[in-house]
Amino acid sequence: MSINLKSHAFASNPLRSSHPNSDPSSSPTSALDALKSFLSGGDNESSAVARVLPFRKGRALARSSVSTSNSGPKWILGWVSPAKVRGIRAESFVYLGSDPEEENGIVFWAVDVSDAADLELGHGGDGYGFVDLRTLMIATDWTDADAMGELAIAGHAGALLEWHKTSRFCGHCGTPTASVDAGRRKQCTNGSCKKKIYPRVDPVVIMLVIDKENDCALLSHKSRSSPRMWSCLAGFIEPGESLEEAVRRETLEETSIEVGDVVYHSSQPWPGTYLSLQFDLLRHGIVEYLVFSVGSGNMPCQLMMGFFAYAKTFNIHVDKAELEDARWHRREDVRKALTYDEYERTQKTTAFKVNQICKGLEGAQISSADLNTGSRELMQMFVPGPYAIAHHLISSWVHDGVNCIHQLQPKQLSSLSNL
Ligand SMILES: [Zn+2]
Repeated sequence: MSINLKSHAFASNPLRSSHPNSDPSSSPTSALDALKSFLSGGDNESSAVARVLPFRKGRALARSSVSTSNSGPKWILGWVSPAKVRGIRAESFVYLGSDPEEENGIVFWAVDVSDAADLELGHGGDGYGFVDLRTLMIATDWTDADAMGELAIAGHAGALLEWHKTSRFCGHCGTPTASVDAGRRKQCTNGSCKKKIYPRVDPVVIMLVIDKENDCALLSHKSRSSPRMWSCLAGFIEPGESLEEAVRRETLEETSIEVGDVVYHSSQPWPGTYLSLQFDLLRHGIVEYLVFSVGSGNMPCQLMMGFFAYAKTFNIHVDKAELEDARWHRREDVRKALTYDEYERTQKTTAFKVNQICKGLEGAQISSADLNTGSRELMQMFVPGPYAIAHHLISSWVHDGVNCIHQLQPKQLSSLSNL
């Protein structure tokens, strides 16, 4: 079994597909002017056509409801009216987009409310809670396109707000910067510099190294990951380096394996800093989080660029500073590691946890009876879940075969058919 995703987690943000209207009266800047007027005590009209997504300490405001179906609780973004955040300066708001369905539709904003302790939002009991993106990501039903759209909006908003926090000074002259163009860029406030600063992403290569002849793939294990977690190699690109060169260099540095052909697969936006933790254990110990990322905290937004990399040499020498272990795994063994029951269980458990947070019960224990998990044996080996590009590189290889990747019809490439 593999998963038919329309796009990777955090991609296909429905608000990004809507371009700002060319009519200047409905541009992001004029939308900010209307918001400013409302926040400073003006009319209520702009309030009716604006929705705000508050973040606190990197966590997005969410709501969660228990559906009648078998799918467990479902979270949605906790949009609020601007009236709820009246105390916040208009310059702190970042424009996310407008309703793609309507010409003069609702304008969507994000704002960091970490310093506004008196705001009555997400304190529990009101059905709203601040939830970190990693938890939301794992709690999202990846087969639900609307839910994946909510996650993509949260990722975009989180990355933009984080960028605002880390770009407070001009890198050229050191003078403080100011938010301009409704938070979509910044500018140095030094009159003789005026450097324009745009949000940027750090590209990261992530590769599944393949031994064609022996039908094996190289998977690595990091010491800070769950003991059962194996994934692809990954690394940053150095200045003056092509993507292919970065794939070959990182593989050689980390495992001593030489790579020949490098074939592009797909890419995934990754909001960065919030997702840097590798794994966690829920307090009740039922389920392990299956998160894979590279690097550690304070990462900017990244673009994960996925490749198949065909090995020319096969003897592994692990760089212990980077990896705990790296081994060749046979296709059948990796197939067994793609345990969708386990991914689904993890997703439902985490969705339940989000529901608890929104009820103000963050510290509450989740019992196995709540989850109806029953007793079961843990798998020997895991690969990251369907929210990670590593999963799709691995499952594409397992299910479709490396030798015929170019010849397959899209419908047969089930896990990347629309990527
Ligand atoms: Zn400057």
